[in-house]
Amino acid sequence: MGEEATADLKGQVALVTGASRGIGRAAAKALARAGAAVAINYQRSREAAEVLAESLCEDGAEAVAVAADVTDAGQVKAMVEQVQGSLGPVTVLVNNAGITRDGLLVRLSDDDLDEVLSVNLRGAFLASRAVARGMMKAKGGSIINVSSVIGRRGNAGQSNYAAAKAGLIGMTKSLARELGPRGVRVNAVAPGYVETDMTAQLPENMKEEILKNTPLGRLATPEDVASAIVFLASPASSYITGAVIAIDGGVGI
Ligand code: NAP
Repeated sequence: MGEEATADLKGQVALVTGASRGIGRAAAKALARAGAAVAINYQRSREAAEVLAESLCEDGAEAVAVAADVTDAGQVKAMVEQVQGSLGPVTVLVNNAGITRDGLLVRLSDDDLDEVLSVNLRGAFLASRAVARGMMKAKGGSIINVSSVIGRRGNAGQSNYAAAKAGLIGMTKSLARELGPRGVRVNAVAPGYVETDMTAQLPENMKEEILKNTPLGRLATPEDVASAIVFLASPASSYITGAVIAIDGGVGI
């Protein structure tokens, strides 16, 4: 379970947003193992990001930890410049940073709506914009957006999150059309329920319900998602763009 794909990403520079924990962390590790130089973005978890960068470097990879709040255009631009300065131009962008603020519509605050749209959707837009020119100039690159089964199917109590994740799918398809002629591929992954801090608070009965509806009978590991991200970053997926790959054990069928 959760086997990692092997791919040759030597010479690639991957920036993973929200890579201090969870899926982003697993993606950064898998991309580094496949040969990419990796920039590990974090907002609050500085120590975790730096420890991860150090351990990847000890394993022979090139890696740096870079701070930025993805909702802030200035910080995102500065982060991309910092990565370019230390590792080279970004050739793979994984828009992974995300948060949830769940609640039924009538109880959702303005902040619950704005913050979720801002991190999950605006963040991906800002980071994509910050790397797009360089990728177009280089006539190559891969942008991978981390959406969710919730963006495809919706979920009571997650209207803000579902809107952001569905928005990411629309953005993925639009950017695939816009950047494809310039050699840049844009795809999304739509994970089901992955065992990370984000889902750690799910009540047991909800987990049981999810498992009952998951043909493969288990939750995802962060490595399950990381494998698909490595695939979408690699030449093995060179004719795939505008796709949304479900990594959900079948729960989204
Ligand atoms: P997680 O364990 O809660 O980690 C979230 C990551 O996002 C952290 O590294 C955090 O960084 C970063 N982050 C949050 N706000 C940020 C901001 N404003 N700027 C930069 N980074 C920020 O989450 P996860 O479960 O790994 O989820 C990763 C992605 O997968 C999210 O987009 C999520 O929506 C999506 N997803 C998750 C699941 C699931 O079941 N877990 C399913 C489908 C999709 P700091 O700690 O440094 O602040």
